[in-house]
Amino acid sequence: MAEIGHGGKEIVERIMEPKEAASKIQGLAQIPIRSQLANEVIGITYGFFSPLEGFMGKADVDSVVKNMRLANGAVWSIPILFDLSAEEVEKYGVAAGKSVLLTFGGNPMAIFEVEEVFDYDKKAMCQSVYGTDEAKHPGCARTYEYKDKFVGGKLTLVNRPKINAPYDPYFIPPLEMRKRFKEKGWERVVAHQTRNVPHTGHEWLMKGAWFQAYAELPIEKPLVGVLVNAIIGAKRKGDYIDEAIILTQDELRKSGYFGDHNHLTSLTFWDMRYAGPKEAIFHAALRTNLGLSHHMYGRDHAGVGTYYGAYDAHHLLATVQKELSIVPVYSMNWLYCPHCGEITSEGLCDHKKEWQKFSGTVIRSIVQDGVKPPRLIFRPEVFDLVMECADKYGFGSPFVTDEYLEKRIPVFEIPPM
Ligand SMILES: [Zn+2]
Repeated sequence: MAEIGHGGKEIVERIMEPKEAASKIQGLAQIPIRSQLANEVIGITYGFFSPLEGFMGKADVDSVVKNMRLANGAVWSIPILFDLSAEEVEKYGVAAGKSVLLTFGGNPMAIFEVEEVFDYDKKAMCQSVYGTDEAKHPGCARTYEYKDKFVGGKLTLVNRPKINAPYDPYFIPPLEMRKRFKEKGWERVVAHQTRNVPHTGHEWLMKGAWFQAYAELPIEKPLVGVLVNAIIGAKRKGDYIDEAIILTQDELRKSGYFGDHNHLTSLTFWDMRYAGPKEAIFHAALRTNLGLSHHMYGRDHAGVGTYYGAYDAHHLLATVQKELSIVPVYSMNWLYCPHCGEITSEGLCDHKKEWQKFSGTVIRSIVQDGVKPPRLIFRPEVFDLVMECADKYGFGSPFVTDEYLEKRIPVFEIPPM
């Protein structure tokens, strides 16, 4: 049975087996790519970014920038671009109708069938996608770093990535993910987007969304799951290290705060753009492809600084809701209420003056102190694992440092062919 993804198109993996590929790549010009583009090659060829079949051409980019849609009309919010300098275009002989071989870490990764080489106004792109053209916005900064020529065309992966430990069990591409959901008997699955180690506020965000997604289904049967889908990509200093994020999210299941019957952890390779509302729309497409029926959106989803209002993402989603096949589950902040003696949500109990919010700073200082916090704030198993990850993977810190950026275990490698 065809697996239908975002935009109503069947999800097809664009992957060629190495035997067949070996002869196809003979004689192609080889272009080394950086990790952002390698992440996107994986996203495209495995169907995470369906209906995209390659890097975008000008018609798609223009339509995404101006109308938040692909040229074929499907809702899409963030341009997926391949950039080269004019010198590189010439050096590699990149031109419409030619194929080139993209390499990563010195090894063949994907065949890129070039359809078009074009220019695009980066400032206009930033203004539309990020709502600002300020270079200090991380998404704009990334856009300005693109070289001056963009190349559109289809991709075929010729060499599968080797996902390194401890990430390997969590790489579950769309077709495999949909199989897993069927095996589990889940009729609905709600996505939890994360770049965090979970405190109990996050845990209750998931639990609340699980109840919401259940709605009218018979609650005595295990029909609804929560999928934690961690975004793994470029890191900024001070972020949690990736190993801690993925392993502690799964620890919530292993330690029984959830179970196999309702919780699964996975990852998607993507360098965050911090596009707030536009990134929320992108997340809807991505998680539709992963087979999810529901998606939780909290406060300031995928935002940064003060660029977006707390509920802008919810409002933008509402404008295209009829065209999306994923149902948004909206939530406000979860926090600790000493009066109730438990976790509560904004808009729920009325002890506003007593509420203790899970601010990033408070959580950070708890983790940095290394003194086990109350289990109502941080689960002891999660906390212990954060400390273990700091030792094992973080060079003594659970947060990204220069040393980590330099020496960390790569999440994936492209092996020799
Ligand atoms: Zn209360």
